[in-house]
Amino acid sequence: MLLRRILCYSVVHSKQGDQGRHGDQGDWFYIMGSIYKAGPVNRDTEKVDLKGLLPGELGDFVTGLGEARYRGLQIFQWIHQKQVKSFDEMTNLPRGLRNRLAEEASLTNLSELARQVSEDGTIKFLFGLADGNAVEAVRMEYEHGFAACVSTQVGCRMGCAFCATGHGGFERNLSTGEIVDQVLRIQADLRSKDGAGDDEGREKRPENGEGSRKQRVGNVVLMGSGEPLDNYDASVKFMRIINDPNGLGISYRRITLSTCGLVHGIRRLASEGLPITLSVSLHAARDELRDELVPINRRFCIAELMQACREYAESTRRRVTFEYILLKGVNDGDADALALASLVGGFLSHVNLIPLNPVESAEFERPEPSRVRRFQRILEDHGVQATIRRELGSDIDAACGQLRSRSFGRS
Ligand code: SAH
Ligand code: SF4
Repeated sequence: MLLRRILCYSVVHSKQGDQGRHGDQGDWFYIMGSIYKAGPVNRDTEKVDLKGLLPGELGDFVTGLGEARYRGLQIFQWIHQKQVKSFDEMTNLPRGLRNRLAEEASLTNLSELARQVSEDGTIKFLFGLADGNAVEAVRMEYEHGFAACVSTQVGCRMGCAFCATGHGGFERNLSTGEIVDQVLRIQADLRSKDGAGDDEGREKRPENGEGSRKQRVGNVVLMGSGEPLDNYDASVKFMRIINDPNGLGISYRRITLSTCGLVHGIRRLASEGLPITLSVSLHAARDELRDELVPINRRFCIAELMQACREYAESTRRRVTFEYILLKGVNDGDADALALASLVGGFLSHVNLIPLNPVESAEFERPEPSRVRRFQRILEDHGVQATIRRELGSDIDAACGQLRSRSFGRS
């Protein structure tokens, strides 16, 4: 067993990982990065990307250029509140400073390569990165606003059996600016399409009172391609930036980070003091099964993971959410429900039962709806709150990687 765990560790942590078992699709909610090249490499590695900096860091940057510190805050507001794409548009900065910024700094600007719009309002974007890679992000509409689901890596090295992301392997981490810009592009799109803002970025309210709901991204989930805790620094910085009141001002309580269970990352996250929601992709309540479905389990077993989750809930006073994809005949039996209930019962938690997005080449299937309801009932009978996740965007290529595959001529 020890040997197996060591072997598995090296597989999970090799650059390419064990991607062979991946299917071609995934949950609509679960989106996938592409490792396929979308165009010529044009990555500016010399200059600092100002989209990845907090206001204080921008202040340091401009004072380093001999400018007044408050200019940093102005730049932050232009980037995050007004979503400008160039220094030239920052019209309250002196022309000389704008020219200097263009010389000394850069701004990540994702390009929209494709989009798909669902009848239910869900939009899936394929964003091109400067080096020719691409990632997907999703905008979802709720009664009270919009949510953005963002990617944190191009590909993933965790190798979960039911997941399409690792299908093409791991390419690279996204930079903070590249994660931030997914939200900014979605927010800019909302403003331009819905007439919710004027050129200065101020919100407008229609005179007839209709549509007074704010046309803004109010919730963010780190549930796109990649493992956020495997790109820890960029993911945490991203959350701090989108939370900043001088920018998007998205409350930490409206940010959810989803992880397959990197225990050291969960512990580190607990120490950051960010009251975000932690979502753990559990998918199995027994080690033998989770070893197969979520290979990182071979390094951090369920007991260790649950201990870290318990500590996280206690130190942050936030409920931990557990994601559980129901796989027919694999993890959907009464005994599995009972094992899950005894694992997560007893501390602040919630279970999300996820309908599997069938993976073309994989062996997994969705259970019958009656089985899903029974599974939910068993959890509830044992005092565990459980919801069956509603599906959005099922009429578009919202399944993992489909839009990317189509755009890049791969299927
Ligand atoms: N790496 C992180 C976040 C991205 S995955 C994690 O694993 O949590 C986001 C969610 O999509 C996870 O809960 C993941 O298990 C789920 N997912 C992956 N493939 C899926 C599929 N084929 N059907 C349904 N959900 C899937
Ligand atoms: Fe997919 Fe998340 Fe597993 Fe990575 S960790 S392979 S993104 S489910």
